[in-house]
Amino acid sequence: MKLAIMGAMPEEIAPILEKIGTYKTTEYAGNKYYEATYNGIDLVIAYSKIGKVFSTLTAATMIEHFGAQKLLFSGVAGAISSELKVGDLIVATKLSQHDLDITAFGHPFGYVPEGAVFVESDKTLIELSKQVASEMGLHVKEGIIATGDQFVANEERKNWIGSTFGADALEMEGGSVAVVCNALHVPFFILRAISDAADMDASFSFDAFLESSAKTSAEFVMKMVDKIGE
Ligand code: SAH
Repeated sequence: MKLAIMGAMPEEIAPILEKIGTYKTTEYAGNKYYEATYNGIDLVIAYSKIGKVFSTLTAATMIEHFGAQKLLFSGVAGAISSELKVGDLIVATKLSQHDLDITAFGHPFGYVPEGAVFVESDKTLIELSKQVASEMGLHVKEGIIATGDQFVANEERKNWIGSTFGADALEMEGGSVAVVCNALHVPFFILRAISDAADMDASFSFDAFLESSAKTSAEFVMKMVDKIGE
């Protein structure tokens, strides 16, 4: 079994590479891919760079070029739900693209013909995450994540995304990774630790908490890998 572990930024995969220790590095299509065997599982690890386009390229590459059969995403996000504070974890039950807009033709936000407003995550991986959370004594929220090519640092935009998609958190890659995995029939799991509240203080909060929140998410994802290997 080959498992992909993906982030968007170097900080999101650094704790994973550190834990794995030795790996083979391959450059492909402008990114570095790290391959290793860990607990008997073949891993391919990469950060895509920020946004929907780069994350689409990386997810597709991990599957089509490196042969990944499942994909776990680890990273940080802005909170919409007031239940979520910096450092809290959220698992996406389904994801949407909040900046996809052909509403001029009468379609809902996030929809294009032959697509869907939401893509659902793999239920088996979500179940596994519940076991991991209970073993770690952690509360992990399940909710909707909305993705777009915008760093949201604006209460009005955040509230609009929350009410339009019922979203609990927002970020810039999950929705596109979900589309790729769904199209290629690869089970996927998107985990995010909160770095900010997507409000006017978001960029300061993000800078202060990127590293610690990225680590929280990465540690959880590595526990998922352990569980998959059991
Ligand atoms: N500081 C970075 C830019 C970060 S963009 C730089 O200057 O290079 C934000 C990244 O974190 C994206 O990968 C996104 O998925 C996630 N994220 C965290 N908070 C976010 C928010 N409020 N809005 C959108 N994305 C957010």
